[in-house]
Amino acid sequence: MTIHQNLIAGEWVGSDAIENINPSNTGDVVGRYARASVEDTKTAIAAAKAAFPAWSRSGILERHAILRKTADEILARKDELGRLLSREEGKTLAEGIGETVRAGQIFDFFAGECLRLAGETLPSVRPNIGVEITREPVGVVGIITPWNFPIAIPAWKIAPALCYGNTVVFKPAELVPGCSWAIVDILVRAGLPKGVLNLVMGKGSVVGQTMLDSPDVNAVTFTGSTGTGKRVALASVEHNRKYQLEMGGKNPFVVLDDADLNVAVEAAVNSAFFSTGQRCTASSRVIVTEGIHDRFVAAVGERLKSVVVDDALKAGTHIGPVVDESQLKQDTDYIEIGQKEGAKLAFGGELLKRDTPGFYLAPALFTEATNDMRISREEIFGPVAAVIRVKDYEEALAVANDTPFGLSSGIATTSLKHATHFKRNAEAGMVMVNLPTAGVDFHVPFGGRKGSSHGSREQGKYANEFYTTVKTAYTLA
Ligand code: NDP
Repeated sequence: MTIHQNLIAGEWVGSDAIENINPSNTGDVVGRYARASVEDTKTAIAAAKAAFPAWSRSGILERHAILRKTADEILARKDELGRLLSREEGKTLAEGIGETVRAGQIFDFFAGECLRLAGETLPSVRPNIGVEITREPVGVVGIITPWNFPIAIPAWKIAPALCYGNTVVFKPAELVPGCSWAIVDILVRAGLPKGVLNLVMGKGSVVGQTMLDSPDVNAVTFTGSTGTGKRVALASVEHNRKYQLEMGGKNPFVVLDDADLNVAVEAAVNSAFFSTGQRCTASSRVIVTEGIHDRFVAAVGERLKSVVVDDALKAGTHIGPVVDESQLKQDTDYIEIGQKEGAKLAFGGELLKRDTPGFYLAPALFTEATNDMRISREEIFGPVAAVIRVKDYEEALAVANDTPFGLSSGIATTSLKHATHFKRNAEAGMVMVNLPTAGVDFHVPFGGRKGSSHGSREQGKYANEFYTTVKTAYTLA
């Protein structure tokens, strides 16, 4: 089987490789992907540094054309790349294709942003002096991505980094290198000069850590666990570099007595279980007022009967497998913990056997949970959710906000008063009314508060805050 190599200083290199395994069928090897060493990573960083002066001054039309071509190819190959995504990560084919389209749209958006770079001119408070405010690229950007969005997250970090004139060293999650390799290959064929984008696949503790330890990496953007996020922060403070973190969530979804039951059930099931619950915006705390509680739980139980968990590539599958064995163990450990803590496992939670060997888990819903249980406080990152019964809206809001995290927060209600109050008072970066907590647009800011995020927002035009640095120039007329 051919080895998909790393891209370092414009050359495809690497012979040490690991197998990328399909979680729907562990006998299916998706491909072999190279593993970069410490030395490879240092070479990649040096190449990005060397390429920076020319790329940072490249014409906006050149950058526009490369990002535009990349968008076009990703969109033209959406079925093939979506299939690759589903095969390596375990999302359903519809989810895989949807995410691929989103990656294409992100490249298209930032192709446009290349042509909209702007600054400001102001008069000085002193006579005969003009002030110009411009944005310049920050330099070498280290990009470290997780396994749960194998194409969209790399796209939403690489596209703005290149658009604003930075060079990149990119380390995807070792579990899902396939889509990352594919977009780097597309960008190179679209005309990216040597060294501007370097792909270093391999272990986080080796490749990622080398990036964090390098004084030549000027900014790091990271999405993943809270633990690794803290490492990124500490290393970045040490080097006085810019850093941006998107980490966990324990997102609440509130259901009020006056909610439309169908809307509430669809949004809650989608939030908690679609994409196998492996979204940082997934809702794992469903906070339900007592007047609708029993009807809501019964309706979710009914809805779950029609949810098919199976091979991600099979037609008719709604939920694919868990991404790998260790994540499956984390999920089942929490299911055990929840029961020991006194919550009632109302539905699911059992391992499932399918035609192919994979990591199949029936979506698990706890009831009678309280907000101080570990299943309500810690990120599980699987198809496991807990219903917390509350008296009224005020208690629901208090419980929703009682968490160390603050990424996304949702409410199902027909009350304008409560919807408006919730939008204003939910302690989260993103708020959803009558919509799942997950599922966001690519052209508007994405990010959270409290323990979920650090730094400026990702996506849309707000991305320029991270990928550029402001310069203020004064000129005597
Ligand atoms: P990690 O935080 O370990 O992985 C995220 C990325 O960081 C990967 O590319 C990983 O590399 C890399 N990394 C790991 N160690 C280092 C290091 N020392 N220096 C630099 N980079 C490093 O998360 P996991 O994938 O292990 O997932 C564990 C848990 O994290 C999940 O169960 C979930 O709770 C949470 N998570 C949250 C996500 C979110 O979007 N909020 C996304 C993914 C996970 P490698 O390839 O070696 O893994």
